[in-house]
Amino acid sequence: QPLDELIASLTVDVPDHPEPGVLFRDLTPVFADGRAFARVVEGLSAPADSDPRAAALAGADRATPTFDVVVGVEARGFLLAAAVALSAGVGVVLVRKAGKLPRERISADYVLEYGTATLELHSDAIRPGQRVLVVDDVLATGGTLAAAVALVEQLGGVVTAVSVVVELAALGGRERMAPHTVHALWTT
Ligand code: IMP
Repeated sequence: QPLDELIASLTVDVPDHPEPGVLFRDLTPVFADGRAFARVVEGLSAPADSDPRAAALAGADRATPTFDVVVGVEARGFLLAAAVALSAGVGVVLVRKAGKLPRERISADYVLEYGTATLELHSDAIRPGQRVLVVDDVLATGGTLAAAVALVEQLGGVVTAVSVVVELAALGGRERMAPHTVHALWTT
């Protein structure tokens, strides 16, 4: 079964959550299915297949990881980033919601599909020139991932790829992420 169909079949649509008019895509059943989760992790780990920036950095050898570290966005991005990092043999870095990180940090405010928020990153979490894969579960308006990318780049990180499980195409997140190409396992 193609991966996009598998993800679609396990995703549960929740109308009017967290507020009226929003159709929330609940991916927790995808994560709870061992076979689906393994394929999702594998898919998120292979951004060079679709991202020209990552492909260029990988050169001819597609087996070479195009990233030195994986950044995950709180909270569902954490479980994906951790699994991708483990399978690729690299470390994982946390982009967290405001007030959670204990040490010197940088912040980015952003507008999301429903409300506003602040994301933070420890100032020493990314070294200049480090190649970074940023992952999250859902790309909606792109505000969240754009903020995460901005934080990584503020520290001198090179975002070689952005991977998501689901892209909600009507919300225009892909356009907002330019010049970064988003690698989505399912676009709907
Ligand atoms: P964006 O900033 O508008 O792209 O929203 C993306 C962020 O909100 C991600 O961190 C998602 O976890 C969350 N999100 C937005 N819409 C959904 C949804 O339908 N299902 C699950 N998470 C969502």
